[in-house]
Amino acid sequence: MLRDAPSLANGHYDLVIVGGGAYGAAAAWEASLRGLAVALLEQGDFASATSANSLKLIHGGFRYLQSMDLARVRLSLNELAILCRIAPHLVAPQPCLLPTRGLGKQGRLALAAALGLYNLLNQHDNLRGRLVSRREVAQMFPACSLPGASGGALWHDGLVHDSERLPLSYALGAAQRGAVAANYVQATGLLREGGRVAGVTARDRLSGDEFAVRGRVVMLAAGPWDGQVAGQKWPQPALAAALNLVVNRDLCRSTVALRSPLGRMEDPVCGGHRFIFMVPWRGRTLLGTAYRLYLGQPGQDGPKAPEILALLHEFNQACPELGLTPDEICFYHWGLLPLAQPGRTPAGGGLAVKRRIDEQPGLILVTGAKYTTARAVACEAVDRVCGQLGRPQRAQLSAKEPVWGGAPVSDVELASLPAASAAHLRAQYGGQAGAVAALAQGRAGLLEPLAPDTPVLGCEVVQAVEYEMAQSLRDVSLRRTVLGKAGRPSDQALRAACAIMAPRLGWDQARQERELAQALAPYRILQELK
Ligand SMILES: Cc1cc2nc3c(=O)[nH]c(=O)nc-3n(C[C@H](O)[C@H](O)[C@H](O)COP(=O)(O)OP(=O)(O)OC[C@H]3O[C@@H](n4cnc5c(N)ncnc54)[C@H](O)[C@@H]3O)c2cc1C
Repeated sequence: MLRDAPSLANGHYDLVIVGGGAYGAAAAWEASLRGLAVALLEQGDFASATSANSLKLIHGGFRYLQSMDLARVRLSLNELAILCRIAPHLVAPQPCLLPTRGLGKQGRLALAAALGLYNLLNQHDNLRGRLVSRREVAQMFPACSLPGASGGALWHDGLVHDSERLPLSYALGAAQRGAVAANYVQATGLLREGGRVAGVTARDRLSGDEFAVRGRVVMLAAGPWDGQVAGQKWPQPALAAALNLVVNRDLCRSTVALRSPLGRMEDPVCGGHRFIFMVPWRGRTLLGTAYRLYLGQPGQDGPKAPEILALLHEFNQACPELGLTPDEICFYHWGLLPLAQPGRTPAGGGLAVKRRIDEQPGLILVTGAKYTTARAVACEAVDRVCGQLGRPQRAQLSAKEPVWGGAPVSDVELASLPAASAAHLRAQYGGQAGAVAALAQGRAGLLEPLAPDTPVLGCEVVQAVEYEMAQSLRDVSLRRTVLGKAGRPSDQALRAACAIMAPRLGWDQARQERELAQALAPYRILQELK
């Protein structure tokens, strides 16, 4: 996938997609599979906004039984099974545990009934749920004795261990099928001709060039920025800022759901006593999610130290035995989500929005609140595009086609690597792992980890720059590789990655120092927590 922003100006596309997050990238993949000529514009890096910040859960839908939303349970289960099939290196089933207590909604009787219904709706043997004993709960969640718990309910969600690489894989697949994709190209407005939208005006944020990208249909998948691109006439949804923490302790063997102690007054977005989750991830634990109303413009603001500490405190209140301390926080994930009631301050339950697809001649606007169902919703949006183009509707092609890297791995290509490095490459690149290793072309150094404290190999940096459009050290550290995803990378690892990038991107010494500083900027707030 090569960045060729100027050619965006010269093409005429069936579909111009604005936004390279989970929704836009999935739409680009589906539309390319259907044979549409696609342009994909991303103002930052692919999957650099909300999609980078998910709690990594692909929901199996058990939670939607609370509201008896059976259609949503089925959709989530189906989507989980599809993602495990088309991206098996990135998405796998993950047990999820809810401790049972008392005789009410969280009691064993009620949850046995819920699990029974869930299993009836569930066609997939490996995703079935069951009640578990106190002993099994202790094995899965050894960090806490959970006084008062009578056992647990166990079902399966999925874990997308690298939530940035799934949208990237959609974009890579789309580019292989002829889509023209470019990061750091911002859509600045809509082009209108003869009463319909006929493309977008755009600015290349790297060169400063401005141009038009013409298309028969434009799809806005710009998440919280949709309204900015669409203009004044679209209702601006209220936004919530959502926050997760990464702590440097391995707390649980499965995802664990706990009830938050916070009431309605302290948690106005969700209405109080929401479920909070601990997710085992990369030998550490993700804690989430906290929500607050966000009143600024998207992109203006980030998380503040007090809210990071407040979320840690909330987990300690929910489960005092955890005794989590601020110095265990090694990173955070933060992003914006649309709220259910456009333009109004929600009074609890505000995150209930499922998905929205709006339409005007030449324009489709797609918004969703879940990473889990992004592919399915994107397919619906592409159906609408096909409707506007007068093309026949088709079954979802991306439900069957493996994503880039999703096809089986040939172990022969990795045979010369140490087992840990081969396993690491397989987890990141799936069936393309051998091709990534081959980029070392006999230069043994590129098959070595960048530093003793990271599994990332030099050849991954080459892959990122030469084939995945990485433009900055931060792109490599946060999104192409696992270098900085779960905590601050070491100076040695960052400098090694920078040294591989510099000659390929023409960086002089001063630029390299700037890149290093920018790559470390997201971790600065951690100093304020100590
Ligand atoms: C803390 C947190 C935890 C979450 N946990 C989960 C979870 O466990 N499971 C789950 O299913 N969901 C979860 N979600 C929700 C999920 O992450 C989002 O619903 C999903 O990622 C939204 O994807 P998107 O493509 O709509 O938005 P985004 O990822 O924000 O993508 C929109 C893209 O459009 C780009 N863009 C904007 N304006 C322009 C422009 N003018 N020109 C070009 N590009 C533009 C942006 O840069 C951005 O990359 C979580 C969200 C957060 C914040």
